[in-house]
Amino acid sequence: MTQNHTLTLLPGDGIGPEVMAEIEKLVDWLGENTPLSFTLHRDDIGGAAYDKYGEPLSDETLEKCRASDAIIMGAVGGPKWDSVEYDKRPEAGLLRLRKELELFANLRPALVFDALIDASSLKPEIVKGLDILIVRELTGGVYFGQPRGIEDLGNGQRRGVNTQTYDTYEIERIGRVAFDLAKKRRNKVTSCEKANVMESGKLWREDITKLHASEFSDVELEHMYADNCAMQLLREPSQFDVIVTDNLFGDILSDEAAMLTGSLGMLPSASLGTPETPGLYEPVHGSAPDIASQGKANPLATILSFAMALRYSLNAGEHADKIERAVQDVLNQGIRTADVMAENCQEVSTTEMGDALIQTLNQQLQKAA
Ligand code: NAD
Repeated sequence: MTQNHTLTLLPGDGIGPEVMAEIEKLVDWLGENTPLSFTLHRDDIGGAAYDKYGEPLSDETLEKCRASDAIIMGAVGGPKWDSVEYDKRPEAGLLRLRKELELFANLRPALVFDALIDASSLKPEIVKGLDILIVRELTGGVYFGQPRGIEDLGNGQRRGVNTQTYDTYEIERIGRVAFDLAKKRRNKVTSCEKANVMESGKLWREDITKLHASEFSDVELEHMYADNCAMQLLREPSQFDVIVTDNLFGDILSDEAAMLTGSLGMLPSASLGTPETPGLYEPVHGSAPDIASQGKANPLATILSFAMALRYSLNAGEHADKIERAVQDVLNQGIRTADVMAENCQEVSTTEMGDALIQTLNQQLQKAA
């Protein structure tokens, strides 16, 4: 039976439109070769939207996003908009989208493909087969807590203030996301905070423990101080399956875990809210103005983000598996964009990488027939 899904595609700025063109190829391929069909809305965000609508996310675009099953974004930003006022900057469009849709859970997988094992700064034996998922709380904590600001103390001194706050409902809802995801993976959650020195961390630990006992006792749970987690990620990253943590620690730990995999051009992400709201899927990288319009961008981070959309928002995990297998195959064939180029491999452009992926998907299909 055909399943129709509505997707909003927001290419954004810089290399965004180039990598998004490769998503359109995949959408066409899925439409022709699987029971999935798609209704596409294409719109602008970031600098492109500012140039067109005078704001980085228009109300109409937001409503289109809200009415979709998933949103796929490229990237926003670039030097062209550096002097635009703060609340009209490209990044403000993305922040508004996350806030309006209450996307409180940020999922950042750190996956090491065998073919790219040498791109990691750690030894191959430490990162081989690595597959970690970091679940970061995205809408609370010290980045949003009140009071905040810089106050003049009147004696030649100033004081900067930020406040870390978490309520039980915020901890429980992010905890639920992490435990649910762990059940579909290797069934282990590591919860990170600083319960030894922060009351918000103590509450986090207590609430996660209660949630685990009442709803998820079949999942393995361990608690770890965030600074120890930062160390363990470098010492023995394979001990982790799902890591759940707050906004600030998640910001740092997810960037650290990303570097275990080597390349920015390969890293996908998802931001999820309640089951009723659409998820937002985007590569971790920015708009890469230094390589924009040169055909050099690696589209795989966006393609892997699209695979996450199939899995988490469109209930089409088997097709996500297919795309991820095809990415692995293409890399194993030695086909590489410049950012992950290695000896004895063939360097390809953004479009050629997309074409190679489609060709590999066709080969998979023929084999299965
Ligand atoms: P960046 O991620 O755009 O680029 C960092 C480096 O990685 C550059 O050398 C770039 O060429 C390379 N790179 C990034 N993505 C690549 C890809 N797919 N293929 C090959 N190489 C790739 O970070 P930056 O240079 O610090 O920021 C550029 C702009 O992007 C800024 O305006 C920044 O604010 C914005 N930004 C946006 C997002 C987002 O949209 N979520 C995230 C980060 C940065």
